[in-house]
Amino acid sequence: MREVEITLSPEDATIPKQIRKKACQVAGVSANLVTEFRILKRSVDARRRPIVVRLLVSLAVDEPLEPALQTYQWNNVTAAAPVIVVGAGPAGLFASLRLLELGYKPIVIERGKNVSDRKRDIAILNRNQGLNPDSNYCFGEGGAGTFSDGKLYTRSKKRGDVRRVLEILHLHGADESILYDSHPHIGTDRLPAIITAIRETLINHGAEFHFESRVEDLIIQNGQAKGVITASGDKITGEAVILATGHSALDIYKMLDRNKLQLQLKGFAMGVRIEHPQHLIDQIQYHTREGRGKYLPAAEYSLVKNVNGRGVYSFCMCPGGIIVPSATADCESVVNGMSNSLRNSPYANSGLVVEIRPEDLAAYSEHGEFAGIAFQEELEKSAYRYGGQGQIAPAQRLVDFIDGKNSASLPNHSYNPGLVCSPMHEWLPESIGVRLREGLRFFGRRMKGFMTAEAIMAGVESRTSSPIRIVRDPERGFHPDLPGLFPAGEGAGYAGGIVSSAMDGDFAAVSFSRFLSS
Ligand SMILES: Cc1cc2nc3c(=O)[nH]c(=O)nc-3n(C[C@H](O)[C@H](O)[C@H](O)COP(=O)(O)OP(=O)(O)OC[C@H]3O[C@@H](n4cnc5c(N)ncnc54)[C@H](O)[C@@H]3O)c2cc1C
Repeated sequence: MREVEITLSPEDATIPKQIRKKACQVAGVSANLVTEFRILKRSVDARRRPIVVRLLVSLAVDEPLEPALQTYQWNNVTAAAPVIVVGAGPAGLFASLRLLELGYKPIVIERGKNVSDRKRDIAILNRNQGLNPDSNYCFGEGGAGTFSDGKLYTRSKKRGDVRRVLEILHLHGADESILYDSHPHIGTDRLPAIITAIRETLINHGAEFHFESRVEDLIIQNGQAKGVITASGDKITGEAVILATGHSALDIYKMLDRNKLQLQLKGFAMGVRIEHPQHLIDQIQYHTREGRGKYLPAAEYSLVKNVNGRGVYSFCMCPGGIIVPSATADCESVVNGMSNSLRNSPYANSGLVVEIRPEDLAAYSEHGEFAGIAFQEELEKSAYRYGGQGQIAPAQRLVDFIDGKNSASLPNHSYNPGLVCSPMHEWLPESIGVRLREGLRFFGRRMKGFMTAEAIMAGVESRTSSPIRIVRDPERGFHPDLPGLFPAGEGAGYAGGIVSSAMDGDFAAVSFSRFLSS
């Protein structure tokens, strides 16, 4: 077994024969002796000219390659002890898969619809014909990450756990490239089938799913969380409750507060979503007037600047994507981004957000631990007031925002419900607006062409992460005020993004198993 690093032209990097040939050359091995090869890592190096693709390749010489994937022992748990899992997002689904391995029966309770019925509500929302508060871009099977770019890049250092998540997604239909790409992504056209396949694995091994069942309260017996009560009054009990409801479930935070369970204010980030023509980003990032050509992926960017002591940064960039309405209530305007697997829309969008720390929320202190949520709600409601009817969002050209003037018109854009010109420089809170302006000026200097009249901002990007944390014991994973309650994922405040939320769901299931056996 040999591992070699090679570089190839973007075109040759798509041809297995060329990869094998170059890898054999670099390894100094005769191609006849190589039985198999596998790509271990792949990235585009756009710093060099010509642009190259870097590959780490494993060659098997005179023997078969080791299996690429681990084996997963998903037990049949039909008759096993039940565990309540609230929320079928990445945290809830990966908690459930781990429960199968540990020999417990997950009972998944989800407020939204199954992923295919959810698609219809999303289509209605995109036509601006109404928002279903329980079935939208944030709520429903698969969670917030389902109709997304499906970026699987994470800063988490727990490599084994990251690999586990990627392998499980691959086993359920995601392309093999997610196992080796430096910035893996799946795409919104592929994600629903993967989520359905994960549900099938769970059900085939004895798990239960309850859709359109919004959890409204906990069942507490002898000081331990033992189940949940749904909006229709159903009482569902188990050995414990894994609470993986995401950061948009404000009703869950209120329910925990009512039950006097500790919550904690935490830092988060808010701002706007910006959009450029993708060909412009390709030209800037690939340093060529021709753009990306046939073999390079839609170019990405990642920008960060410290302005007056707070980070201003691009977030969740979607090359070749579209901006989507991701509010969960009718009176708010919230935007986010997604893309298809081919990332082939003519637009590039990204969140551009400003870091907010608990000490920045003094004006909202009367809301206690809910101060960040109060600020977030205020901003989303302002955006709604300045937007148009329904989910028509407020927007402005970036250059007009910098110059402090209203845009007379907007260029073509990807946001289906529609955009309306709005003086965002006037109504964005100063703590955000001033920093965004400084950040944008800096990014315009870093990426020549970025500050163009073709670029817009739309508001608001307010759900980057949770402004509140559900307290839990860092080692044992349960709430210190209520043993048996395992808060997990982004809504609990311990993860951000698909992969880290999935990993945190896994941690919740393992913690539960330790709790039961202690
Ligand atoms: C449009 C969009 C694009 C995104 N793109 C990416 C991306 O490309 N890459 C990335 O890493 N991240 C992306 N994210 C963020 C990512 O989706 C989240 O970080 C991730 O889904 C969090 O996982 P989670 O399981 O903790 O929570 P969620 O995914 O939010 O899942 C929570 C689930 O709980 C359910 N629920 C809530 N309240 C209740 C209740 N009371 N009773 C029952 N069920 C309830 C919800 O319906 C939901 O299904 C995107 C988010 C959005 C909205």
